Parts: sequence; C-alpha cells; structure tokens
Amino acid sequence: MSTYDPTGASWVRLDRLLALGDPLTQDVWGCGPVGRGTVLTELDRPSTCEHDDPVPCRACEARRIAWFVRHGVDPRDPHPIAVDIGVPSPSSSPPWPVLDGNHRVAALTVLGAQLVPVVLYGDIDAAIAWLTSEDSFI
Ligand SMILES: [Zn+2]
Repeated sequence: MSTYDPTGASWVRLDRLLALGDPLTQDVWGCGPVGRGTVLTELDRPSTCEHDDPVPCRACEARRIAWFVRHGVDPRDPHPIAVDIGVPSPSSSPPWPVLDGNHRVAALTVLGAQLVPVVLYGDIDAAIAWLTSEDSFI
C-alpha cells in the first residue's frame, strides 16, 4: 500500500521497483553490474581508487552504495529517489526507471528494505498500482 508523505514521496514496494530495474544487477553506471557481493566486500574491506579517469569505476560505485548502507537512506532527502514508470505506450517507456537515486535503491536492497520512498513520474496511476499491488498487470 502506498502512503502519502508530506515531502511528496510515495512509499512503494522495493521488490516491484527492482522488477522494473535493479541497479545492483544491471549496468546503470556504465562500469558493469556492481553486485551485492562487491558492496558487501566494500563494507568489510573499504577500497581506495587512485585512477586518473574521472569516470567512476565499479569500486567507486560500490563505495557510494556502501556509504548509504552504513549511514542509511534519509526518506526526507531534498533530492528524493525519482522513478519514471513511463506511460502506457511502448514508444514512451523510459530506458531506465530510476531517474535519480540508484545508489540509494541499491543500498536499500542490500539492507533488505521492504518499502522505499520515491517521487513518481509518468503515468502516476499505473506507477502506484504496479509499485504497491500484489498482482502484476504490466
Ligand atoms: Zn574508482
């Protein structure tokens, strides 16, 4: 069940969000999937990166996720996790549903969260139905 939050966020099911796109198993940062194991290793033995390339590597991304695992995800973050479910048209589906907050979604996945606060874009009714219901309709 989605709940209204005065910040404008909706609390939605993390498992449903991950069915649309899982930042731990898919290559959302262009360095290959980071994976839960890499994040757990980062938590156990923090890495350092000394590369000249300004583009973050997998270790950089795992370190960012691990930071949120250690410190938590603030549901009142002024930059909320943003999800675009698109509209009911194949030509207008977003290529990736998480517009902002992939590291936080990954951290919440590692933490085993059930619900995640998100601001929704696209077909809001479809988004709420998909992200909060028990039955699949997409
Ligand atoms: Zn790096």
